[in-house]
Amino acid sequence: MSAVWYPGRAVVDTAAIRGNVETLSAAAGSAQVMAVVKADAYGHGMLASARAALAGGATWLGVAQTAEALALRAAGIVEPRVLTWLYSPGAPLADLLVADVDVSVSARWALDEVVAAARATGRTARVHIKLDTGLGRNGMTRPQLDDLLAPLMRAQADGSVAVVGIWSHLAFADAPDHPTVRGQAQVFADGVAAAERAGARFEVRHLANSAAVLRWPSVHYDMVRPGLALYGLSPIPDQAGSDELGLVPAMTLQAHLATVKPVPAGQGLSYTHQYVTTQDTTVGIVPLGYADGIPRHASGTNARPGGPVQIGGRRLAVAGRVCMDQVVVDLGPDASDTAGDLVTLFGPGTHGEPTAQDWADVCGTISYEIVTRLGAQVPREYV
Ligand SMILES: *Cc1c(COP(=O)(O)O)cnc(C)c1O
Repeated sequence: MSAVWYPGRAVVDTAAIRGNVETLSAAAGSAQVMAVVKADAYGHGMLASARAALAGGATWLGVAQTAEALALRAAGIVEPRVLTWLYSPGAPLADLLVADVDVSVSARWALDEVVAAARATGRTARVHIKLDTGLGRNGMTRPQLDDLLAPLMRAQADGSVAVVGIWSHLAFADAPDHPTVRGQAQVFADGVAAAERAGARFEVRHLANSAAVLRWPSVHYDMVRPGLALYGLSPIPDQAGSDELGLVPAMTLQAHLATVKPVPAGQGLSYTHQYVTTQDTTVGIVPLGYADGIPRHASGTNARPGGPVQIGGRRLAVAGRVCMDQVVVDLGPDASDTAGDLVTLFGPGTHGEPTAQDWADVCGTISYEIVTRLGAQVPREYV
């Protein structure tokens, strides 16, 4: 651990991640679990989160970036399969093959580069065909798959690739009973069948993200790919909170009050004074700001409280603009808080503290963004 002192920290409960994987595994039935630990495990810290997920029964790890896949292997995580999926021409594919990382192929150029890397290293590349079944994002379309099947099978025949997987991603898994889910599953099944007719024999077919693990058993196939739910956050907050889903939020974001001081009625707080005290009161300075990942959209006005915080057992809110490295809270006229007192910005919610979902609601965004955007300089402490 770095010894750099910082006035805030994210405490990450690795037992919660392990338990969440167990819960998701149970929901996934016989399907394997790929723990998606991209984006530094949604801000929770990739290595510690990956180890917790593996302890909970995940057998695969998934990351978007090639550097993340290499970092997992470099850290000594050698046993589980690792899949990486987002790269552009010139990516270090040879390094990935040497590190025994599975690679996704979404386009002809990617197949060509994978084959070249396999020949250069003497390795057989383990390839997952990424199909765009309707999300309209990365992946080959169904007609592109038809064009790529012959080159894929030729590359398999000459030993440069092993086509081990086929996969896709859903656009509306979080909407209750959305017709596109069935439609995408149909295109997926059709793509799988076409590839099998061409000679592919898949180890894993995978389609389900967190929401689909919990809500769409019909698309679990051989493996599911939860991300957000590993960290205990609900992928379907409008339908069910974390607790209803049996998930425990793993991250608690804390700081300590830097200053507490009395201010008179009529005092504007923070830039542009969009919050003005209505009585003689006490304010507290919380030393975290947008440089740390606190969204500026969590700023508060008198009419609309900002991001919620818990101080001394009370639920309070950001007053005025979120600054680069601090926010202000109106502690009220009779506050007995002092500098150094603990501020909890969000946590599991079990002790009355706000949750990442509460922050997402205030900011008009999703909990994914609240935890993922947390600055790299904010220390992660593992318990
Ligand atoms: C991020 C991601 C996931 C995980 O999604 P969650 O909604 O966080 O469960 C799964 N598959 C792909 C392709 C992804 O990009």
